[in-house]
Amino acid sequence: MPLQSFIEVSPDSHFPIQNLPFGVFQPKEAKPRVGVAIGDLIVDLSVLEELGHFRSSEFREPVLSGSRMDRNEFSEDSLNAFLALGRPAWRKAREIVQHLLSAETPTLRDDTKLRDRVFHAQKDVLMKLPVRIGNYTDFYSSYHHAHNVGTMLRGPENALMPNWKWLPVAYHGRASSVVISGTEVRRPSGQTKPPDASAPVFGPTKSFAYELEMAFLIGPGNSLGEPVPIDRAMDHIFGLVLMNDWSARDIQAWEYQPLGPFLAKNFCTSISPWVVTLEALEPFRKPLPPQDPAPLPYLRAKDDFTFDIRLEAGLQTAKMLATASPSGGGKAPHIITRTNFQNLYWSIAQQLAHHTVNGCNLQPGDLLASGTISGPTEESRGCMLELTWRGANLLKLPNGETRKWLEDGDKLTIAGWCEGYGYRVGFGEVSGRVVPAV
Ligand code: CA
Repeated sequence: MPLQSFIEVSPDSHFPIQNLPFGVFQPKEAKPRVGVAIGDLIVDLSVLEELGHFRSSEFREPVLSGSRMDRNEFSEDSLNAFLALGRPAWRKAREIVQHLLSAETPTLRDDTKLRDRVFHAQKDVLMKLPVRIGNYTDFYSSYHHAHNVGTMLRGPENALMPNWKWLPVAYHGRASSVVISGTEVRRPSGQTKPPDASAPVFGPTKSFAYELEMAFLIGPGNSLGEPVPIDRAMDHIFGLVLMNDWSARDIQAWEYQPLGPFLAKNFCTSISPWVVTLEALEPFRKPLPPQDPAPLPYLRAKDDFTFDIRLEAGLQTAKMLATASPSGGGKAPHIITRTNFQNLYWSIAQQLAHHTVNGCNLQPGDLLASGTISGPTEESRGCMLELTWRGANLLKLPNGETRKWLEDGDKLTIAGWCEGYGYRVGFGEVSGRVVPAV
């Protein structure tokens, strides 16, 4: 029998007592603060902190100096201060919350007044970006994604660039345009060059696509000039979120050489609000698939791993959303991608070790994304570019509509969860609806 909470949690909920993801929420007419999700509720950690539940020496002593003793990390409008504390504090905080929510602990269970202060219904609050993101990097770590895209551009013989199996390829993205799930996504305009035209034209993108990704958030950073050895990588990783790296393929095709993506990617990137910790993911750890050739020593971890996280992308067109019945019928997104986090070739430890190997300094709240997560099957293709093979194959929807690319009014939702041991550890979802260009 898995650990139970006194809070009722449905068996298919993403947020049982085994998960306890951290996020930032804003109750009506109050300031944003840090909370933990359980079932359909949120535990307000700023109230628990005010009441002294996080004052134990184990939580603070290893990490806080005297001058910071009065700081309430959970009353802030981002997780950054908490992230800077490091894994011993994260573990302790999680243990404290798990204990307070357990069916055996009377503190909250038997105090109705206190429960009114501590719990909020998720439907009544506004979720905010969980972190102030200083820097955002996007990797390109799925073999099948890289191979598919390379095949479209250069043919199957030259699909992978010579460096791909030697290092986790990435580009530096734009942190300012990372938005929280639910934010509308405006169709970007830019330069594109039709193949038969002699000069580029300007206008809204005609190849608007999603990319199903996951991303991890940095806790304590490293000093400039000091690489993080791969076996210490986990000291720096707090947890993971879902991500949609919205992309304008026609803008990308014209601009990307020789320095990589720029305006095709930096107009909007959506992330999910709840950060699932490595502790919650631990039961779903899997060995990293074999790598051939063996990576250079600085990328070889003693015991490298990945996670069994099921991932889905679903589409709802404007027509589908309009015909959804009030009872919820027809509201579920039509699933167009089914994949798994295990389809990534490079591990998060390798990504972090590679990112810092030249002395580049990471900082609390930095966002490091996986790249599109595609698997070997057609169903597991993680982006619109691969699904329609660059617009060559129409995507057929159950109501008779078709898509080459995303159209205005389309809503794209990515969901992810681990399953086993009688419960789910889920990420919730990240969604966004395309609105017309300015
Ligand atoms: Ca990407």
